[in-house]
Amino acid sequence: MNSQRKKKRIGLISLGCAKNLVDSEVLLKQLESSRIEIDFEPRSLEDIQAIVINTCGFIGDAKQESVDKILQYVNAKRQGVIERIYLMGCLTERYRNELEREIPEADGIYGINELPVIIRELGGEYRINLLGERYLTTPSHYAYIKIAEGCDRSCSFCAIPMIRGTHRSRPMEEIIREANYLSDQGVKELLVISQDTTFYGIDIYSRRTLAELLRKLALVKGIEWIRLHYAYPHAFPMEVLNVIREHPTICNYVDIPLQHINSRILRSMKRGITGDKTRKLIDKIREKIPGVSLRTTFITGYPGEKDEDVEELIRFLEQVKFDRVGMFAYSHEEGTAAFSLKDSIPAGEKQKRVAMLMNIQEEISFQLNQQKIGHTLRVLIDKKEGDSWVGRTEADSPEVDQEVLISDKSGKLEPGRFCDVTITEAGHFDLIGESTF
Ligand code: SF4
Repeated sequence: MNSQRKKKRIGLISLGCAKNLVDSEVLLKQLESSRIEIDFEPRSLEDIQAIVINTCGFIGDAKQESVDKILQYVNAKRQGVIERIYLMGCLTERYRNELEREIPEADGIYGINELPVIIRELGGEYRINLLGERYLTTPSHYAYIKIAEGCDRSCSFCAIPMIRGTHRSRPMEEIIREANYLSDQGVKELLVISQDTTFYGIDIYSRRTLAELLRKLALVKGIEWIRLHYAYPHAFPMEVLNVIREHPTICNYVDIPLQHINSRILRSMKRGITGDKTRKLIDKIREKIPGVSLRTTFITGYPGEKDEDVEELIRFLEQVKFDRVGMFAYSHEEGTAAFSLKDSIPAGEKQKRVAMLMNIQEEISFQLNQQKIGHTLRVLIDKKEGDSWVGRTEADSPEVDQEVLISDKSGKLEPGRFCDVTITEAGHFDLIGESTF
């Protein structure tokens, strides 16, 4: 007789970006409503019968992470620790045939538009009435809200449009319904995401309607912070800046991925904007929203990037003094327009450029943080770590930006609570302070 207890839980691993995480949360909600027992990112496989891996396939490092994770669970299946493995997400959308050939242990491989099929395969039933509902994997006081899927741009280095398809905006009323649902769940901060948020509306309303959407989101009761991510710079809808300035619940924060500042590189990247226009746009944003926090990302090591182009990027960093910067090494991706160019910068040199640019940004960030000492800032508490509470200011998005470590004598702090914090010390990417009630 088999004395082993029958395992029945399904574990879900979500890799990659916040957009992928939202897809995982939708799947979890659907499974939960079908009364399927689920564990998000299970710590142990003791009760796990099957694993679903929501993969990422954007750039080299992300693909490698997905492949490593798949192999880890293939191994667990071979050893009889789990019974089944299912793969979904961007890597499977992009490399389905290869994965079917190379990973025969996978019991199912699905593209990004096959949610009902995956749910059925896992023993559940897809419920259309759950549209907009999700099982939140983030702390209950913040949530990502995806306003569109896909991308209509043709940035030369980017594989996203061939994975996620063309831009499809979600109707405004559907997004507002979801925001209300999230607020009812206790969410206080909404992180607005899509591949390209400033393109929102063109496909379904024949014009850019991000400003209108933000205005409506600002009216959702219970939401105290709304944060704008992935605002593509070309044809930036200026009305958005007025909306941010006018509404106290919309954070004075703009995440605007610039990728480079050199006009020749930007042209080759097909970004639709020059270095000069980029500088003017940054000036305009700062003029319209005084004190705005700017987050951006850059790619270095793009084909043909010369030393003087890197120097131009350094000067730009030093002049603009972005609050937050993400720096990535160029990844040569098949199927993209840049793949026809020679990947001319050796991997070691790309990493050297990333490290050098980030060193410069680290010093800028330190100087900006020093100016905050003695100031009292409003902070949203995320968690407790040891004896300190950890929170974020309006200038910081979860996971990617900096944190505030808080000592609290009041005993009143808890996750999801706003409080005032007087900054006493500042590091390169962190602030330290005391809560004041
Ligand atoms: S805007 Fe450009 S970089 Fe962003 S997802 Fe679209 S094609 Fe990729």
